[in-house]
Amino acid sequence: MAVIRKFLLDEEGAVSVLLAAAMVALTGFAALVTDAGFMYLTRARMVNAVDSAVLAGAQELAGNPENALNVAVSYAEMNGLSDDEVSFSLDDGNTSITGTASRRVDLFFARILGIENAVLDVYSKARIAPLVAAKGVVPFGVLEADYTLGEEVILKQGGGEGSCGWFGALRLGGNGGNVYRDNVKYGYSGTIEIGDVIDVEPGNMSGPTSDGVAYRVGRCDHVPECSGNSYVEGCPRICIVPLGVVHEGVGSQQRFEVTGFAAFLIGEYVGSGNENKVKGTFIKYITSGTADDKGTDFGLYAVQLCE
Ligand SMILES: [Zn+2]
Repeated sequence: MAVIRKFLLDEEGAVSVLLAAAMVALTGFAALVTDAGFMYLTRARMVNAVDSAVLAGAQELAGNPENALNVAVSYAEMNGLSDDEVSFSLDDGNTSITGTASRRVDLFFARILGIENAVLDVYSKARIAPLVAAKGVVPFGVLEADYTLGEEVILKQGGGEGSCGWFGALRLGGNGGNVYRDNVKYGYSGTIEIGDVIDVEPGNMSGPTSDGVAYRVGRCDHVPECSGNSYVEGCPRICIVPLGVVHEGVGSQQRFEVTGFAAFLIGEYVGSGNENKVKGTFIKYITSGTADDKGTDFGLYAVQLCE
């Protein structure tokens, strides 16, 4: 600055005018860079906050849509947006949540140019759509049907009730009791999608079924214990199963074609041998996986951020 001052004081005429003009240009440039950077950063934070808010709110749309707006607002607040800066709304069918945020920001250098502040607006939308592909499914093939909330469904039949030697067990990633047991316990590690035609696991698989289900039920340490009416998301008792149709055959020649996915909360597993069966309560649920509007709506969804 001393050098500049020296020039301004010492030099007359053209040089001073040139320098003065340069200072104005430099100031304008500084205003542009500093304020644009500040606005960019603020806007990016607002976008993140509204995105995370609509994603969190959308998690409520299947089971608890009346709670979706509150959840969205609290996530927005956690991420630095105040109540009066944000607005959220649901669509008519409770399948999407839209969020907007608006903030007036004070500018620094642009004041020199007479611009005191700027208004930043952001918009985001998240929606749910039927699940069409999933990892971690439990190897019970359940016949497709329009299940109702809270309905108790037999996920795996006892040997005495099955037809042609298939009782609901699916062969995923290999055959035999150990593979099947691990799939019941942890969910199948591969991806299953609509249209897949899966080999069935013939036979009752009574022991591996009981072991696997007992493992899941035992790992629910929630208080009160989870049930179809009240459960903690992510509880091991919640099973994502493929729904589908059976292509006729005898025993292992039967095939199970996947037409959708549904979620059940394992309630009861009873008996051994021919009496061994697993019951679950149908729930509406949101999980991770691929969602698509073209999928049939069986009450199990994944969340997508729109655009
Ligand atoms: Zn639980």
